[in-house]
Amino acid sequence: MEDNQYAILRKEDFNSFISALSKLHKLAAPVFKGYNNYAFEEIRSGEEIELKYIPTILPPKKFFMPVRETLLEYDISKGLNVEAVTEYEEMLLFGVHTCDIAGIQCLNMVFSQHPQDHNYLIHKQNIKIIGLECNEYCDEYANCHLMNTHLPDGGYDLFFTDLGAYFIVHINTPAGEELIESAGFFKSAQSSQLNELASFREKKKALFKNELPIELDLIPDLFDRSFESKVWDDLDERCLACGNCTNVCPTCYCFDIKDVINLRLIAGKRYRVWDSCQLGTFAKVAGGKNFRKTRKERQRHRYYRKFRYSIDRFSRFFCTGCGRCSRTCMAGIRLKETLKSLIGTKEDAKA
Ligand code: SF4
Ligand code: SF4
Repeated sequence: MEDNQYAILRKEDFNSFISALSKLHKLAAPVFKGYNNYAFEEIRSGEEIELKYIPTILPPKKFFMPVRETLLEYDISKGLNVEAVTEYEEMLLFGVHTCDIAGIQCLNMVFSQHPQDHNYLIHKQNIKIIGLECNEYCDEYANCHLMNTHLPDGGYDLFFTDLGAYFIVHINTPAGEELIESAGFFKSAQSSQLNELASFREKKKALFKNELPIELDLIPDLFDRSFESKVWDDLDERCLACGNCTNVCPTCYCFDIKDVINLRLIAGKRYRVWDSCQLGTFAKVAGGKNFRKTRKERQRHRYYRKFRYSIDRFSRFFCTGCGRCSRTCMAGIRLKETLKSLIGTKEDAKA
């Protein structure tokens, strides 16, 4: 750790820092929504922010890839007039946990691939990220230790760690450095404070333990021999095909394209809206064929997208261990239980 990459913000200056930021930029942060629910919303003062929260109902991907987003507008009343639309605004996200930063890193890879997604990349360029370290393990649904997303690993401009009387802040980008300089509440970190951060991370090892009896690098192999597992039959019986698990997932990015055209059929809008591979119609194609007709096939596909296919395509897992899919599922389908069942199947034991 280099001292000049770290700054200190005293707790008593936190609210003034947030107020100063909110005057300069639109600022969103986790707020309490009742019944153990949290959401990223626009805030104006530090008092509104929940510094200790479990993953928000929707991940911050909603700012990078809005639920519904207009892509183009057209009007052919006076010739062929088609305008590409990009709806974005400059903003700051405060308090993003490491699992959600990992989710944004996954989406960055997807949308930077050829053909690049112009709208996503414009959002990305205009959103600065201030991360916040989890000091405690959030709940029984998370699997961030298994996925190795419980510690900061880039993808942010600034990263805050709460060390009691003060925050120690990692400055990761020139934009982060500018924020620190313009705010004026920060001091350079001393080596004793860096030592405190190192010992905090050491203590974290006792709190964050591997959730399942498997090492991360063995998971692709587990999936290579689990395609015909009976575990998928069990999910077939239980899944309600509601699509909640994919909607709340920070790495799911499927969308549908829709047109709204005026009654005279000369002007309209094309927009995209989140879609879900868990819905019965998702894989239905012309001629009425459906290449993932059953819930079993769709659930299996969801898990393979997180733990196997993304390894071939992006060399990383697309599960960040946030636990949202398990937390939200009305049918009680829990990701860790599914993985545990796969690990425990005879098929796996024989291999
Ligand atoms: S949230 Fe649960 S019930 Fe709904 S589609 Fe996902 S796994 Fe099935
Ligand atoms: S699969 Fe579930 S635990 Fe993994 S990133 Fe998606 S919502 Fe989070």
